[in-house]
Amino acid sequence: MLIITCIKQVPDTTQVKIDAVTGTLIREGVPSIINPFDAHALEESLRLKDEYGFKVVAISMGPPSAEMTLRRALALGADDVILLSDRAFGGADTLATSMLLSEAIKRLSVHEEIAMVICGKQTIDGDTAQVGPGIATRLKYTQLTSVDRIENIDIQSRRITVRCKFEGRYEILESSLPAMIAVLREINRPRYPTVPMRMMSQEAVIKTWDNKIMRLNENTVGLKGSATAVKRIFSPDRAMGQILGGDEISNPDDAARMLIDKLVSKNLLSLQ
Ligand SMILES: Cc1cc2nc3c(=O)[nH]c(=O)nc-3n(C[C@H](O)[C@H](O)[C@H](O)COP(=O)(O)OP(=O)(O)OC[C@H]3O[C@@H](n4cnc5c(N)ncnc54)[C@H](O)[C@@H]3O)c2cc1C
Repeated sequence: MLIITCIKQVPDTTQVKIDAVTGTLIREGVPSIINPFDAHALEESLRLKDEYGFKVVAISMGPPSAEMTLRRALALGADDVILLSDRAFGGADTLATSMLLSEAIKRLSVHEEIAMVICGKQTIDGDTAQVGPGIATRLKYTQLTSVDRIENIDIQSRRITVRCKFEGRYEILESSLPAMIAVLREINRPRYPTVPMRMMSQEAVIKTWDNKIMRLNENTVGLKGSATAVKRIFSPDRAMGQILGGDEISNPDDAARMLIDKLVSKNLLSLQ
């Protein structure tokens, strides 16, 4: 049985700048990294491989440079990797992204049974958390989101139990397989690749599926297949904050009184 892990290559946002003219992210010269949530999705897939013997296939939609992220997945222990890359796939929004990833998963399911699809909760660039649920909807899989622990898998009866973390509460959910699982970063601690595995991954040929292989209607992928387009990206102007009290106020009561006075003076608080 297969576990499909969806991993995205993203710009290291700590260094991302916005092109004020085009309103798009400046990606040139910015180091690319594996999306942090996806490093945990990959680790969880490999952990389940160790425990239950699943085969792990990591897939990524992206430019040819996204090969680097898939080599990392091989070095960590993924059994196979597939890069979905074609100019026609460029500019995809979440609708088109989840469509392409689902079609690739359908192709893989022809050869072997899929146990689950594991995604990260969200990416650090688009940040929509929509692709995982989009894949689940298209494949008619149960979607289990905000998962911070996989409690149990019963391969015989094709059932899984997970713990989901929400604000101030947990939910324990049980579902049939196959399912789509979107994980939180708390779920595990990613392992490091061994030197031999790193060397092997550097030599490996990365399988790339373009649209000649996927044979999808070009109006359903990339920018053409997207219902939304990013019009402009910009850093909102922030009004300068004000530090109340600072050194001249020693105790918190005075600071609190000063805050209340400030809020009242700005009609943000009424003491009536
Ligand atoms: C600043 C910015 C804002 C954007 N805003 C929007 C928007 O509002 N609406 C919209 O539809 N699109 C938006 N996009 C485009 C969007 O980023 C892409 O569609 C992207 O491919 C998927 O969306 P996401 O990054 O939000 O992923 P998310 O939905 O946050 O990703 C969740 C998980 O899905 C998997 N995944 C996501 N992308 C890929 C991939 N390419 N390959 C493999 N696995 C993947 C990963 O496991 C990931 O952890 C935006 C892009 C940028 C850079």
